[in-house]
Amino acid sequence: MPHVIERATTGRAKCRGCGVPIPKDSPRVGEAVPNMFADTDGAEAMHWYHPQCAAYRRPEAFLQAVEGSDLAVPERDALVAIAAEGVAHHRLPRLDRAERAPTARATCRACRAAIPKDAWRLALLFWQDGRFAPAGFVHAACAPTYFETAHLLGRVRHATPALTDDEAEALAREFALPPPAAPPAAPGDGD
Ligand SMILES: [Zn+2]
Ligand SMILES: [Zn+2]
Repeated sequence: MPHVIERATTGRAKCRGCGVPIPKDSPRVGEAVPNMFADTDGAEAMHWYHPQCAAYRRPEAFLQAVEGSDLAVPERDALVAIAAEGVAHHRLPRLDRAERAPTARATCRACRAAIPKDAWRLALLFWQDGRFAPAGFVHAACAPTYFETAHLLGRVRHATPALTDDEAEALAREFALPPPAAPPAAPGDGD
């Protein structure tokens, strides 16, 4: 099955990106993924997203779905640009949300140093085998290094709807800081 963009035929499907149901008759993006639970080889399932959530979190599927579709999608050009950015910087779609660290137990995936309690951090998700799995955190100040772009605020605000303007400003200041010095990477750490 190719990926698709279409009008939602019901209001029952929840967006895989944000968990909010997709309203009937509004555009939705369907990503065809291998169905891990089917007995037959090659079986696929369709995962639905709001167009904006697909552009941020599943950019390849989004671009493939909108290419060749003439469905009217609000902010289509802006969403295509967001998705293209996520393809160019392949870690960007991993961004889950911004938050203040509730404990000091997590280690930054970029610099390997501990993330202090109450410090701003970005939570990451890896998409694998048709689902998103929690994949750790980076310091806000390390985010431009980790994601290989400092163009992060719009993405962070989409991913963190509860963020206030003051909090967004605090994050923007951290994105502009030099990253903490990185200790040497542990062997076999990979990507
Ligand atoms: Zn969504
Ligand atoms: Zn760090």
